[in-house]
Amino acid sequence: MDMINSKKTPLYRDTGFFLENNERTKKAFADELNHPHEPENYIYSRYRNPTIVATEKHLCKIEKSEWALLYQSGMAAIDTALSIFQQAGENRWLFFSDIYGGTNAYIDEVLIKRRGIKTAHFSSENGTYDLQKLTALMDEFKPQLLYFELVSNPMLIVANAKRIINEAKKREIIVVIDNTFASPYLWKPLMFGADLLIHSATKYLAGHGSITAGVLCGNSKKLMQDAIEYRKLTGNMISPDDAYRLNEQLHTYTIRFKQQCDSANKLAHLFSRSEKIEKVFYPGLQNHPTYEYAVDLFEHRGFGAMISLQFAGKDDTEKRNKCNLFMDIISEHFYLIPTLGDVETIFLPIETVWADKYPYPGAIRLSVGIEEFEYLEKIFSNALEKI
Ligand code: PLP
Repeated sequence: MDMINSKKTPLYRDTGFFLENNERTKKAFADELNHPHEPENYIYSRYRNPTIVATEKHLCKIEKSEWALLYQSGMAAIDTALSIFQQAGENRWLFFSDIYGGTNAYIDEVLIKRRGIKTAHFSSENGTYDLQKLTALMDEFKPQLLYFELVSNPMLIVANAKRIINEAKKREIIVVIDNTFASPYLWKPLMFGADLLIHSATKYLAGHGSITAGVLCGNSKKLMQDAIEYRKLTGNMISPDDAYRLNEQLHTYTIRFKQQCDSANKLAHLFSRSEKIEKVFYPGLQNHPTYEYAVDLFEHRGFGAMISLQFAGKDDTEKRNKCNLFMDIISEHFYLIPTLGDVETIFLPIETVWADKYPYPGAIRLSVGIEEFEYLEKIFSNALEKI
């Protein structure tokens, strides 16, 4: 085929790659894990695919990691990140409790019920994590692995991650972090000693509510080989089409997320000034219990683009009524959608979704989009006035 003067990596939909002769076939199979980036070593798209590798290289640049691997969802990346550490003997893993509900369900249904992993769970108290209690639990439970989310969902608790990683490393505990909410623009956990990093790329990295994907990043070659092998054997590979679209959308990730953080910060301050609102959960507000960690880690680049808020009222019924009215008013402009990180502002009622865990009557979670701040300010100020 003639060379085309295009700067893009083509969308290779091949399921298998032309290996030419016996010699080359032998080399490709022998080198598959040692040199997975060599162009002549592509074998089969479930193993590696050049369009997917191009997107993975783009992610390495953004995350400043040695390697990145793509999956068909954030959950598939989580499954890999944990499964590659599972040993034949006893496995003792420590999880923060304030993590994505799907991950907690995976821990219960897959890790505990089906695989017999021994787990311990560490909860926040008063909107923050007590490091002393965490280290005491590390010493008592003696886990091989620690898993947490840098910014929790939906209460947006920022973990004191530098100290937590240090304490884990002193005890030779593997650290796996889901950084979906802060995303690489705010903090890069691998640079501070985390072993593996997960993103639901479905959220800010893809950012348009139109791709489901997961990413795993790391610096250790051994972990990369384990993760490639596990992905190949379980078939958790992203499609080349989704990888191609993700690669394009990554070009605007930083400007999108910057704008989203900026608007969210201004909106959080606007909400915190309103007497119609009882509580605003946003790590960029000085009264947030983990504000100091957010400042330390994010260095004022931003504080994330998620805001949770609870409406004021003399009792729970009034709070719920105010919240419902507010949602009705903003529904003329924004959608109630159970996801986050879209370019458009979307929202979710907290009590309905997290009734057992976060029973805040009359509270919503906002995922702030890239709309002009003045537009958002007008809609939300008007809605506050009307309730
Ligand atoms: N991690 C976090 C923090 C999430 O919020 C989600 C989904 O909402 C996931 C992981 C799972 O990602 P996915 O839906 O792409 O499988």
